[in-house]
Amino acid sequence: MRYIRLVPIPHGSDADADADPHDADWSTRHSVLSTARRTAALVNVLAAGPADAVGGPAPEAVAEVLRAYGEKEPFDLTARDVEGMREAAALLRDVFAAESADAAAHVLNRLLGAHTGRLRLSSHRGGSPWHPHVDRADDAPWPEWFLASSCLALAVLVWDRQRPPGRTCASGSCRNVFIAQGSGPERRYCSRRCATRERVAAHRRRVDG
Ligand SMILES: [Zn+2]
Repeated sequence: MRYIRLVPIPHGSDADADADPHDADWSTRHSVLSTARRTAALVNVLAAGPADAVGGPAPEAVAEVLRAYGEKEPFDLTARDVEGMREAAALLRDVFAAESADAAAHVLNRLLGAHTGRLRLSSHRGGSPWHPHVDRADDAPWPEWFLASSCLALAVLVWDRQRPPGRTCASGSCRNVFIAQGSGPERRYCSRRCATRERVAAHRRRVDG
């Protein structure tokens, strides 16, 4: 079943008191961010691959990310699915490369126009709270699901923040993308590891120069 992951919210929050008790602790409100982060993680894993392969990562490496973001097994991911997801990831990189809300919106409008279906709501036959989809069916192939759910989440982030939803790591030796913080200081690197490496390199350049 492929749906936007549910994220538990603490007791005492404004969860709908009339909701099914089973669902009362769950909210889809924050799942947009979770879906956007899953997009970044998938774009990154899909760019990687074992050294002996030309076709990208093993399906299991992709499945690991899906699992980490709460997708339900079994995935039945094939090498062909991964190939299609790599094509989708290449398209989504343009959103992360956008440096303004305008640019991100133009890229997303292009992707939504060319690759997604109409907006519809799904509960996966009662298996989840109602939530939006723009893929063509609940059982859409993995590449279509990936591109559609990613476009939807990134579009909502542009709507919510009026800023580009993500960035590409500023390190020249890293291709990772990441979801930009909602507020606070501008983050330039995908990880602490990249930030540290670049800081050390800059220091060496100063010392050597
Ligand atoms: Zn990086």
